[in-house]
Amino acid sequence: MNIGEQTRFKIMLLAHREELLELEQSALQAAQPVQSDEVTTGRPDAIQGQQMAQETQRRRTRDLARIDAALQRIANGSYGRCVQCAEEIDQRRLEINPAATHCAQCV
Ligand SMILES: [Zn+2]
Repeated sequence: MNIGEQTRFKIMLLAHREELLELEQSALQAAQPVQSDEVTTGRPDAIQGQQMAQETQRRRTRDLARIDAALQRIANGSYGRCVQCAEEIDQRRLEINPAATHCAQCV
């Protein structure tokens, strides 16, 4: 992969990262912590809402970690190669997911 293409993927990764961090920020601001009396009386909708928010948060954290790992691979020159077989990952695959770590064969 040439430098120009790599830079383009880097910009995509940074933009996605920015987006996730913004979502995280607004989620934190909108977060309405479940009152402890609501938990003890077992209001199911409040608890369910909190569980969903936690799940969304977990997914964001995982995506951010993947993006950071991809940026790291760009920095050390291993970006665009399968972490398992070291073959080049199909560029169309990276277009869909610039943080992809495996080629189509190793998934
Ligand atoms: Zn592979």
